[in-house]
Amino acid sequence: MDLSLLDLLRCPFCGTHLDLVDNEALGRDGSQVIWGVLGCQCCAFPVIDGIPVLIADEATRAAMHAMEDGRRDEALASLLGLGAPAAGRLHARLQGGTATYRDALDIISPDAEGTYFVYRFSDPTFVLAETLVRAIGADRRRTTRVIDLCGGSGHLTRVLGELSAQPVVVADVYYWKLWLAQRFTAPGCAPVCCDANHPLPFVADSFSTVVLSDAFPYIWHKRLLAGEMLRLAGKSGTILMPHLHSSLGFNFSAGMTLTPAAYRDLFAPAQPRLFRDSDLLGDVLGHTAIDLSRDVTPEQAGDEPSVTLVASRDPDLFRKHAAHDPGALAGELRVNPLYRVEQRGVQATLTLAFPTPEYEEEFGAVRRYLPETLTLDADLRGALTPSQFGATYTDLRRRRVLLDTPPRYC
Ligand SMILES: [Zn+2]
Repeated sequence: MDLSLLDLLRCPFCGTHLDLVDNEALGRDGSQVIWGVLGCQCCAFPVIDGIPVLIADEATRAAMHAMEDGRRDEALASLLGLGAPAAGRLHARLQGGTATYRDALDIISPDAEGTYFVYRFSDPTFVLAETLVRAIGADRRRTTRVIDLCGGSGHLTRVLGELSAQPVVVADVYYWKLWLAQRFTAPGCAPVCCDANHPLPFVADSFSTVVLSDAFPYIWHKRLLAGEMLRLAGKSGTILMPHLHSSLGFNFSAGMTLTPAAYRDLFAPAQPRLFRDSDLLGDVLGHTAIDLSRDVTPEQAGDEPSVTLVASRDPDLFRKHAAHDPGALAGELRVNPLYRVEQRGVQATLTLAFPTPEYEEEFGAVRRYLPETLTLDADLRGALTPSQFGATYTDLRRRRVLLDTPPRYC
């Protein structure tokens, strides 16, 4: 955590400034606080391995006391949700410096959510959200200071980081997701562990863009959170909420859904506009433009399974945004891990292979852009470069056959 983050943070309960406590627990590296305690007028919160944890529950308090007693490893393991054996395995894997995001996920989240995260960079929801933030982020006024709320392990944070002038604040209630974001997915981000069912621990009017992708239906205190998002965006900020599950359509793991009209009404002071996700995904797959002039009424959204909500006082946002070719690589070029690769001489055959039947059922729409099988005249063993793929490179990137992933991803 950089000390400058304290200018943005406020206690979620009493609203006062958080100060770094000068005690034995403090571990600093220049302006970076790795371990320490933050105090406000009502409470104290730990900074654990660089991440402020602005939650007041038993588990957080126990971790803070372990850290203050000099048991930092124990404090970290408890917030990662790991017992001693798993924490030992994670520690051993990280020792060599070659462990990947997937290696760490295998230990921290060896379940369906871990699977979902590994394949996140090409799932249809992410593809839509990424295209939207790139369209909005093309204008620097909107991306001076960005927050990715309920940002999980930082996949969209990574994209926002490419567009933003400041480190992107990524907030989530799950410490382990933020820890992975900071370490692997979105290095340089500013993670803040906090609960979106409570007041958000930030100064009013502090973000030019407030993004919340996918997670809003899972929040119980929607009215509170909507008010908080409006508070953070202030008069001039943009609110972007891709993929809101509608209660009028079918969704896998839908959460506690509302109707499109109810989502709109929660953000009424910012005059939000709604878009059908099927329209937007059609635009994305057409590779020409994403059309934000085509908002719909709740009635027009009908029983569409999900909608996207955008609120902005910037009229220039609500127009057609030309699709851009993939830019320079931000990380490593790799074949989408949904493909099984068979290399024969100079030819490689790729075959779509879903990790689980459940994944295929929920995200089968990837077939709209990932071919079932394809053959490439390329040697895919070893590090990949764009020039290996010649004229097909741009198309392979657009279709997500090739991905630009963080180093040491999988
Ligand atoms: Zn307080």
